[in-house]
Amino acid sequence: MNLRSNAHCHTVYCDGKNTPEEMIRAALERNFVSLGFSIHGWTPYEPTPTSIEREAEYRAELRALREKYRGRIEILIGAERDFLYERDFSDYEYLIDSAHCLERDGEIFDVDWSPEVTERAVERHFGGDYYAYCRAYYEQEARLCEKSDAAFIGHIDLVSKFNEGNRCFDESDPRYLGPAMEAVEVAVRRGKPIEMNTGAISRGYRTTPYPNPLLLRRIRELGGEIIINSDAHEASALDVGFDLCVELARSCGFDHVLRLRSHGFEEVGLVGSADSPLLPRWGDGLLTP
Ligand SMILES: [Zn+2]
Ligand SMILES: [Zn+2]
Repeated sequence: MNLRSNAHCHTVYCDGKNTPEEMIRAALERNFVSLGFSIHGWTPYEPTPTSIEREAEYRAELRALREKYRGRIEILIGAERDFLYERDFSDYEYLIDSAHCLERDGEIFDVDWSPEVTERAVERHFGGDYYAYCRAYYEQEARLCEKSDAAFIGHIDLVSKFNEGNRCFDESDPRYLGPAMEAVEVAVRRGKPIEMNTGAISRGYRTTPYPNPLLLRRIRELGGEIIINSDAHEASALDVGFDLCVELARSCGFDHVLRLRSHGFEEVGLVGSADSPLLPRWGDGLLTP
């Protein structure tokens, strides 16, 4: 099934490889109805080549492209906001709340940069204890979900990016699952959709999306919503792994997922065609374009 939408992608305005227009053309080739752009909001500590000025250029270019492609595809102008840096994002139409970093011992380090960076950080700040590291991440994630006014939560379990095959820790261990479930529960209680993210597949770190099935089942049990996104950093990755996500979501009990349109979220039934979405509805946390 073709979901025909993605609300999480990056371009040359931050750490992506393609221009916004190249991404839009790739989306049109895939028959997308909507494409949401989510530049990494500038922070003093993230090494992506953006700036407040570049962000303004990005929004202007997307507004122009929205006019150029009006009637063919809906363009949404969003940003991915990192938890550790507070600033104004009111110029955006929607936000993704994500945590890419952890702060420990006065140092901010990335959790998703490379397996080597993670290994070094776990050694240095957690005495090599991956469960303590994951707990710190999920405690931060729970705080993020508690205060989030974003449209949805990005990659809630990013700490598992380099953990395929339980390479560093066992994802069914209560020491991992306990704190992860707590973060998921806060997100669902706050009505925040949680993302299924395939970014690590296109980057060659994983063959499966995250969250893992244990967390997905818990989201379903709690009545939470999910949105499938590729977190694409290049045009060819726009819908990587979407079929796998649909299959996984179905096997975890979901009968629909969300997709982001210019009028808000709509539910896409996982049985049948994406052309007949179930109930269109407004999403909490969406600013009106
Ligand atoms: Zn991210
Ligand atoms: Zn991203």
